[in-house]
Amino acid sequence: MTNKIALTYSALTKFQSCPRSYKYRYIDCLVPKRVSKALQIGSKIHQCLATLYDTGKMGNITENEFSMDETLMMLAMLSGYVSRYTPEQFKMIETEKVFKSPIINPATGHKSLSFDMSGRVDGIAKIGDNFYLVEHKTASIATQSYLERMWSDFQITLYSYHIQKHYKIKGVIYNVLVKARLKRKRNETDHTFYDRLRKKYDDPAMFLREEIYLDRNVFDSMLRDVWDITQAILWAKRNNAFPKNLNHCYRWYRECEYGPLCRSHDSTAVLSDGYEKQIPNIELEENDGNNKSAQKPDTSENQLF
Ligand code: SF4
Repeated sequence: MTNKIALTYSALTKFQSCPRSYKYRYIDCLVPKRVSKALQIGSKIHQCLATLYDTGKMGNITENEFSMDETLMMLAMLSGYVSRYTPEQFKMIETEKVFKSPIINPATGHKSLSFDMSGRVDGIAKIGDNFYLVEHKTASIATQSYLERMWSDFQITLYSYHIQKHYKIKGVIYNVLVKARLKRKRNETDHTFYDRLRKKYDDPAMFLREEIYLDRNVFDSMLRDVWDITQAILWAKRNNAFPKNLNHCYRWYRECEYGPLCRSHDSTAVLSDGYEKQIPNIELEENDGNNKSAQKPDTSENQLF
């Protein structure tokens, strides 16, 4: 069978968390029209870090989508990051690495005819002879519990398994950049506000790194779980059965992105006002080449690494 569906970690966990939200995203192909500012900033910082590790220079972040205060915060964050991690502790081998590999039925050893496993990792780094997945995150606050829920053991195992034909992964490096909560004072100039932000980013607490090591003994049970989820998805599609999980609507203190649509029982008015169509897994379609060409490195910034 051709045209297998690319199944991502995101899709797997969406289905497990709430089958209805899986349907909205992966069957109906819906996304909210309004993307939160926090997500936009996170996405821009990811792009800038990829450019930084690829070229040694920061990307251009002075774009219309961000206010001047947001732009200054991101500039100060990236400048502080360069200072904090120069010289870098690891060698970045690849950025924005996309992988795709078959999903295997553990009982028969046969490949799934319906799904392939796919995903994108922020980076592959090398320390000594060991390879690590690198995951960048921007966060409002970086506590131990935040780190613990950033990547589950399931995701580490899943990604490491599927990327192992390229690299034998030893673990994951979480690379967290904290968003400064400083507000511009009355009559404060751009320059003075930037200086205050930049000073804030001299605080080591604004950056956090943690290494988590992979347990290869759990590959078998992970493969079993993934296979079982694919069978549950196929059953749900055949029977058009995607129940709601009301316990998941406000997980992590944030409303589910499909909350308004779901609460309104799929009102057409809410649908047309708040949602638009977008192909699933668009993050895999936007290949790194495209992302990088969209970045115009700002050569006035410091060379890194
Ligand atoms: S609002 Fe709740 S029930 Fe509805 S899709 Fe989201 S998580 Fe599921």
